[in-house]
Amino acid sequence: MNGMIIGCGITGPVLALSLKRAGIDSVIYEEQETPLDHVGLVIYVGPSGCNVLKTLGLYDKVKQSGSVSNGVEFNNHAGKNIVSVDLGNHEQKFGAGTIAIKRGEINRILREEVDSQGIKIEWKKRLKDIQITKEDSSTIASFEDGTKSHGDFLVGCDGINSLTRQIIMPDASKPQYTGSFVIGGTTDTPENLTIPSNVLLFNFGKKEFFAYYVMQSGKTVWWSDTRIPEESIGEKRAIPDESWKNILLEQHREDSALFSELVRSTNDKLIKLSIHDLPSFDVWFKGPVCLTGDAIHAVAPHAGQGASLAMESAMMLAKCMRDIPDVEYAFSAYQKLRQGRAKKIKKMSRRNVDMFSTRNLARRWIRNLILAVFPKLTKNQQDDVHGYQIDWNKKIVNTNRQS
Ligand SMILES: Cc1cc2nc3c(=O)[nH]c(=O)nc-3n(C[C@H](O)[C@H](O)[C@H](O)COP(=O)(O)OP(=O)(O)OC[C@H]3O[C@@H](n4cnc5c(N)ncnc54)[C@H](O)[C@@H]3O)c2cc1C
Repeated sequence: MNGMIIGCGITGPVLALSLKRAGIDSVIYEEQETPLDHVGLVIYVGPSGCNVLKTLGLYDKVKQSGSVSNGVEFNNHAGKNIVSVDLGNHEQKFGAGTIAIKRGEINRILREEVDSQGIKIEWKKRLKDIQITKEDSSTIASFEDGTKSHGDFLVGCDGINSLTRQIIMPDASKPQYTGSFVIGGTTDTPENLTIPSNVLLFNFGKKEFFAYYVMQSGKTVWWSDTRIPEESIGEKRAIPDESWKNILLEQHREDSALFSELVRSTNDKLIKLSIHDLPSFDVWFKGPVCLTGDAIHAVAPHAGQGASLAMESAMMLAKCMRDIPDVEYAFSAYQKLRQGRAKKIKKMSRRNVDMFSTRNLARRWIRNLILAVFPKLTKNQQDDVHGYQIDWNKKIVNTNRQS
């Protein structure tokens, strides 16, 4: 079998590498001209995602390029601790830790592995259309440059705005705006600031949420999570960086001076992102065309689970294709095995969006009270999220096949 994978973000390479382990060939088609190794802020890859990387033999590389996180501290506007969540025991408890790494950096590690295993990546190939052949139900992908490619199946790993999804599910709901608009930057950590390393600091400012993390490189990545209405997204994105910095300084005027110091010291270009997620879809494939990663279950980043969820799904899809020779039966088994988890993580991520953005004084007070006991209250849920593991060697039994 020979498959086509659309998109070389995080999901596409994990799928290609997993398919190769399953003895299935694939080619990745990516719209970018060249790799975007410099993009993105820091992402947290939890134990479930790291266990996928471990199966692929990439955990140590990612660990070396990023840093193992010891925990998350939730603080109030003045920097006073509300509660700390220990992540330092993850490796021992779940077999892999929680790693903080720049998004472009994990992309680079995955892509280099794809290259070194001889899996082909075709750059500057923007998908335009997909046809399913009548004779043998295989797929033909057409690209914007006028070329076409053929494969026994096609998987859309083309992110939240997936064209693959729009082609096979033209009536499906569009991505939904969560109300959160993130502005962030990276700066050399000012010498006068003492910031603990390997700890993610979440701060509930008086007006808006502010987070920061000291990277392996010694630089500090920070972001502010602001609430803006959907109709203002374009206008807010167009605001020049220097003006945005002044807005942030004003928004965090009553908060710890450290936040303002980080904003002021930032010279790099700011990142401005409106945060969307996807509704839960009932169907994840059509004939020989399937969806995985953000293309089918993009979640808000507020639980730090999107990349892990995407990697889990990609590996599970490859496993289903290894064990169930009929492509559509394999897709159907994959959908069944993954839908529940995707729904659960989406709900948890949305809950965090609401928790991070509460402005009302009384609700903030209640939030902080609940937060103080939150790790204990949600222990089982956290164990369930982090402890999820795909046993690559365990065979999948096809529950769809008619006897
Ligand atoms: C601000 C932010 C913070 C985040 N933080 C975390 C975190 O802490 N932890 C975590 O686990 N997750 C986090 N995430 C989520 C995580 O980044 C995503 O879940 C993950 O990147 C999804 O990977 P993907 O490969 O499915 O999609 P993408 O990374 O979006 O990759 C899609 C690829 O497809 C390509 N493509 C798109 N359309 C076409 C086309 N028509 N033809 C060809 N190629 C195409 C794109 O160029 C891209 O390379 C965060 C996301 C954001 C926005």
